[in-house]
Amino acid sequence: MERTEIGMLSRRELEHLYPGIRLGKDVTGGAFSALDGHVNPLRLLMALQQGFVDAGGTVHRGRRVDGIEVCGGQFRLHLKTGVVHAARVVIAAGEASRVLAEPLGMTLPFTLQRGQILVTERVGPVLPYPSDRIRQTAGSTIMIGGTKENVGRDTGTTAGAAASLAARAIRVFPDLARVSAVRQWSGRRVITPDIAPIYERSSRFPGAYACICHSGVTLAAYHARGLAKRIAGYGSWDDVQQFSARRFNVQAA
Ligand SMILES: Cc1cc2nc3c(=O)[nH]c(=O)nc-3n(C[C@H](O)[C@H](O)[C@H](O)COP(=O)(O)OP(=O)(O)OC[C@H]3O[C@@H](n4cnc5c(N)ncnc54)[C@H](O)[C@@H]3O)c2cc1C
Repeated sequence: MERTEIGMLSRRELEHLYPGIRLGKDVTGGAFSALDGHVNPLRLLMALQQGFVDAGGTVHRGRRVDGIEVCGGQFRLHLKTGVVHAARVVIAAGEASRVLAEPLGMTLPFTLQRGQILVTERVGPVLPYPSDRIRQTAGSTIMIGGTKENVGRDTGTTAGAAASLAARAIRVFPDLARVSAVRQWSGRRVITPDIAPIYERSSRFPGAYACICHSGVTLAAYHARGLAKRIAGYGSWDDVQQFSARRFNVQAA
């Protein structure tokens, strides 16, 4: 396939993509995009933070912001260790963003969705291509998942989810039945009403921004470049405007 080609594959074509592992009898084909990929999110985060430091930034790890107020056109960020002043502030604190953004005139509607993941023991390279629910990592484990559950803030794991994730994986790749699962974990996704991200700029307090999303790993390339440039004042905010939370205010719209 051409590098940018996106299309449907027959079972036979899939077998060529995965020569080292059998496909289950129910697999009739698949979707393929040469632009899809898999990154280790922890390494990506470290690389982004290093890039930020190399560009002259300072990262304050483990320092929780308890509140933000506006004073004389400046933002005052209240931390346990003291107050930090800033001319511009970007709230990107995942599910904690709502509480921080509200006093700055930005309303962020979202719900929480639990996702559970199964991780197998390390095996030889059998999955050269990632799929959305079964991927082999650079560390040779296979990640299976995740679930989509509306259970509020609960980040527990369940035997039922483990069973259904494993059953689906084995249905696609029956050889995985011989591989042991060694970990199961869950996390919460931030889900906006239309699932797209919210990029908000406060009209009441110029200089205050908020960004929340699910798929923040996929979107990192845009956040680190296009969005960051616009927040820094290079480039127009107009093309980001459609991602304002105001799109959910039906009366205003
Ligand atoms: C099971 C599962 C599978 C997923 N799979 C994918 C995937 O395949 N691809 C993908 O792109 N995304 C995936 N995601 C989603 C992805 O993890 C999130 O979109 C991403 O982590 C969001 O990044 P964020 O920086 O906006 O928020 P977070 O990762 O939540 O980070 C927020 C940060 O803000 C800090 N913080 C919170 N409150 C404060 C405060 N008061 N003061 C200072 N700091 C604060 C937190 O400590 C944290 O470091 C998945 C999520 C789950 C749960």
